[in-house]
Amino acid sequence: MFLFFIFALGLFVGSFLNVLVDRLPKGESVIKGRSHCEKCKKILKWNDLIPLLSFVFLKGKCRYCSARLSPYYPIVEFTTGIMFVITTLFIFNGSQFLISNFKFLINFQLLITNYQLLLTLIYYLFIISSLIVIFFADLKYGIIPDKIVFPAILVSFFFLLFTVFVNHLLSAFGAGLFFLLLFLVTRGRGMGFGDVKFSFLMGLILGFPNIIVALYVAFLTGATVGIILIIWRKKRIFGTAIPFGPFLVLGNFIAIFFGKSIFHLSSLIFHF
Ligand SMILES: [Zn+2]
Repeated sequence: MFLFFIFALGLFVGSFLNVLVDRLPKGESVIKGRSHCEKCKKILKWNDLIPLLSFVFLKGKCRYCSARLSPYYPIVEFTTGIMFVITTLFIFNGSQFLISNFKFLINFQLLITNYQLLLTLIYYLFIISSLIVIFFADLKYGIIPDKIVFPAILVSFFFLLFTVFVNHLLSAFGAGLFFLLLFLVTRGRGMGFGDVKFSFLMGLILGFPNIIVALYVAFLTGATVGIILIIWRKKRIFGTAIPFGPFLVLGNFIAIFFGKSIFHLSSLIFHF
């Protein structure tokens, strides 16, 4: 069902790509000017513009002057539809549970969990579309349009910037702020300021959602060890208080190697 939706989306995007393929190399406006027959210049109605179907029903001829329509139109539409499906399968590989339903689109928390996946899908559908326009524009007119290449460069730049850099930067500030609050609330007795600075570094290293896994592991192991030491009355073994840094490092290690699988597993178990 989801894949059929993606295929249909690809057909409609493909019909827009046809417009780009024909107009960009000639320097024509993409938005202005309705679609028209190349031969009789008659403006086409909506039922002449249904991807794939109109071409089949009109037997590849103009409804008004019976001029043969370029077979490129249905080819571009079909190619885009198929490529959209292949790309979606490729991106969601290993996340098969997402494909069978729309749950992650309406469930906000699931969406947050999988926002990187969704962002990646949107990015690659955009790139696939750009590549299809370049392929057919160069094939038909011998031109690779700047208006495709430059925006694709810009979008790729921001995609990389956002998915890696911005994610990790936000995680650093998130973790740092969280520990700063703990530091202020406990007046430095629960947490040292070293923990605050180190948590910022951890966010930068791990990014979201791995930082959550690391802090969870740190607090869980820290609390467990703390309780055991209190029961054994050996609290003073580490000097004045139990240092939290070693637990943060432990969480950091575990998140680096198992972060993604732990987060994925817990999202399945706790349904968020
Ligand atoms: Zn015509």
